[in-house]
Amino acid sequence: MLLVMSGIIFGTVSLEGKVALITGGASGIGEATAKIFTRHGARVMIADVQDDKGRAFCESLGSSVASYIHCDMTDESHVRDAVDAAVSRHGKLDIMFNNAGIAGSLCMQIRKSEKADFERVVGINLVGSYLGTKHAARVMIPARRGSIVMTASVASVVPGMASAAYTCSKHGMVGLMRSAALELGQFGVRVNCVSPYGVATPMTTAGFGMGVEELEEFFHEHAILKGVRLKAEDVAEAVLFLGSEEAKYVSGVNLLVDGGLTITNPSHGLFRYSDV
Ligand code: NAD
Repeated sequence: MLLVMSGIIFGTVSLEGKVALITGGASGIGEATAKIFTRHGARVMIADVQDDKGRAFCESLGSSVASYIHCDMTDESHVRDAVDAAVSRHGKLDIMFNNAGIAGSLCMQIRKSEKADFERVVGINLVGSYLGTKHAARVMIPARRGSIVMTASVASVVPGMASAAYTCSKHGMVGLMRSAALELGQFGVRVNCVSPYGVATPMTTAGFGMGVEELEEFFHEHAILKGVRLKAEDVAEAVLFLGSEEAKYVSGVNLLVDGGLTITNPSHGLFRYSDV
């Protein structure tokens, strides 16, 4: 966010010297965030289960600023090791971005859904974010500073945007974020969520069975804010702010990047309770 008018620099957001761990950073919103973070001076470690994709992405960013670690967010030892790897490589952890997530089945009806699907979605989205928060806090507390950001969703605020499992996982993440902000504030650690509306990423294009342009058009059709398509980069800009010193007194916030969608009646949801 650099505004240059007539050669005068009005404002910058810098992550110079910062170290960030980005879960789910091999794809979509995490990938866009890693690009923006490195462009603003941060060194990033990408933690994901898509090893080939994650490694190739880090190589494209450059080995001095980006590295990859295999990490399944459902396994506490993986999460602990990823946090420790970031600290041992770079000496510290300034920003933890708990972003890895899955949509799970699109089945909207609780009575038709499967327990295993519910547990898998909650296990990765919510329990994974809990583990990321727990282990990031472990290394941030001695430093008396740090920023933890989680990708929740508009589904953290209203039902009807995704399955009940996904909605519960994202509502739960707001509870996790608020609990962590309360607990960790005394140590100088800030905790926030970023909550996007629909973005065409591999998760959603696969889930909706649409190409990028078609899906962006679909989201736009249902949006309140017209004339603009929400991109992964727009979400990454919000994460950049929350991770930066510009947000040094911002904690306990669920920052909605939804063009005003959730201020409306939830019946504006993408799905109503149909038989999807
Ligand atoms: P994506 O599929 O492009 O990226 C998700 C990443 O998470 C992938 O790289 C995947 O490999 C990784 N991942 C999945 N399970 C994992 C696990 N067990 N351990 C480690 N990594 C794992 O999707 P995205 O849209 O970029 O999603 C990123 C986050 O944004 C998710 O939490 C999602 O719920 C949230 N979100 C997405 C949208 C949207 O419309 N795309 C909207 C709101 C919130």
